[in-house]
Amino acid sequence: MSFFSRATPAAPAPASTTDPETLPADALISLRNLEKSYAHGTTRTWVLRRVAIDIKDGEFVSIMGPSGAGKSTLLHIVGMHDSAWTGDYYFGGQPVHRLGPKDRARLHKQHIGFVFQSYHLLDHLTVYENLDVPLSYRDIRKSERDSMVCDILDRFNIVGKKDLYPNQLSGGQQQLVAVARAVIANPKVVLADEPTGNLHSSQGREIMELFKKLNDAGTTIIQVTHSETNAGYGSRVIELKDGWVV
Ligand code: ADP
Repeated sequence: MSFFSRATPAAPAPASTTDPETLPADALISLRNLEKSYAHGTTRTWVLRRVAIDIKDGEFVSIMGPSGAGKSTLLHIVGMHDSAWTGDYYFGGQPVHRLGPKDRARLHKQHIGFVFQSYHLLDHLTVYENLDVPLSYRDIRKSERDSMVCDILDRFNIVGKKDLYPNQLSGGQQQLVAVARAVIANPKVVLADEPTGNLHSSQGREIMELFKKLNDAGTTIIQVTHSETNAGYGSRVIELKDGWVV
């Protein structure tokens, strides 16, 4: 098992080298000297090298670059799914690199929604039940949860689908439900990993227009994409190559 395997306990937090006072005041996310590598016997493969990025609250950023450049890895670190990295990560001024697993999970649940290329809906739950899942992790009364689910079904124009299971929906409809699930608890940031990768172009366009609307309403969006068209919906591209920000 590699040193960085998720199954091993979190390594002690590395000494922070960044003075938070030097970070831009309007940054929601600041990464400094962020690195990730995998050990293979005596050798080590670097996946992210000295990444330094600031993302402002309300930005719509696209991460681009060749396959294997480290894009998904970076997105999963920002999404706090992955804690096996070194360097400094500030989210809303909080030093994520110093937080333990419980506090990271709290921050993640409260502020981050994630959209995957292959939707990742729960197949044994209906659309309604899938949308209720992120709310069930929070301290919200059932009646309030019901009204939040009804509200999002309405906003996303999928009321008629609420009792269907994911395999009864088209790919585009499943991704619509996945985006609804990501935003139902009003996260500050939506992270999307190739969100239109499995969709026909018209379905993809619908998802990107939805992201644009969410962004116009104030949600920060960070997407990984290979598509120049999709990147065109955002305001900035961060390019990665061999783990380095180009
Ligand atoms: P991208 O999203 O840009 O295609 P990824 O972030 O998925 O790239 O992967 C970056 C690099 O990390 C790739 O070279 C991949 O082979 C490597 N990688 C991912 N997981 C592992 C692992 N468990 N062990 C070793 N290398 C890995």
